[in-house]
Amino acid sequence: MGLFDGNKKTCDLCGEKMGLLGGIFTSEDLADGKTICGSCRGKCTPGELRFSAMTLDDVKANIAVAVANKKKGAAEFKATQKIKKGAYRGDEFVDIDAGHGWFMNAEEKDGWVYSLDDVYYFNLDLDYAPLEEGQGFEVRTEDYPELPKIPQGVRVTDAKLVIWLTDNELAVNKVEISAAGFSPDEGDIRGAYAAAHDFFLALKDYRASKVPAGKH
Ligand SMILES: [Zn+2]
Repeated sequence: MGLFDGNKKTCDLCGEKMGLLGGIFTSEDLADGKTICGSCRGKCTPGELRFSAMTLDDVKANIAVAVANKKKGAAEFKATQKIKKGAYRGDEFVDIDAGHGWFMNAEEKDGWVYSLDDVYYFNLDLDYAPLEEGQGFEVRTEDYPELPKIPQGVRVTDAKLVIWLTDNELAVNKVEISAAGFSPDEGDIRGAYAAAHDFFLALKDYRASKVPAGKH
C-alpha cells in the first residue's frame, strides 16, 4: 500500500481511482458533491462547461450529446464543399455540409459537428510583426470587404478563422480554425483570405437557400 493510497478519490462516473496518472489534477468537483476524473471530463463536449454548477446526471447527459455529435460527424456528415487553404489552396480547412447545415474543422480528424444556423459572427484573426527595412508584404484585400485590412508596415505572422456561435448543444461559443500554416509567407496569407472568403460565401449561400419561396 502506497503512502497516498488513502487519499485516492474514486471517480463517481467510471469508478476508477484517481491517481497521478488517473487525472486527479484534471478532475472536476460537481454541484452535487460528486467528482469526475480527468478521463471522464475528456469525454464531455469541448465548450466551456461550468462543472461546479453541474450534477452527475448533467455530466452524463453532456457526454451523451458529445457521443451523438461524433456519431453524426462519422456517419451522417456529407461534405458538399471542401474549402481549402494554403498558398495553392490544397490544405484542409473547413468542410461544409449544406444539406444538413453543418460545418467541421477539416484539419481535425473525428472532429466536432457545428451548425451553420448557430453562426452569428466570424472574422479572420491576424497576428502581425513589424516589417524590417527593405521587406515588403503585399496581400490584396480589396476583394474581401468582409475581412480585415492589413495595416501598413507589418507582415502577417498568423491567421485564424474565428467563428462565434450562439448557444448550442456543445456549449462552444467560439470555433478557431487555423487559416495559415506555420511561419506563413504572403502566398499562405493570400490563401487564408481566399479560404475565409469562401467560408463567408458558403454561409451566405446556405442562408439564402433557407429563405422560403416567395420571400426573396
Ligand atoms: Zn472517470
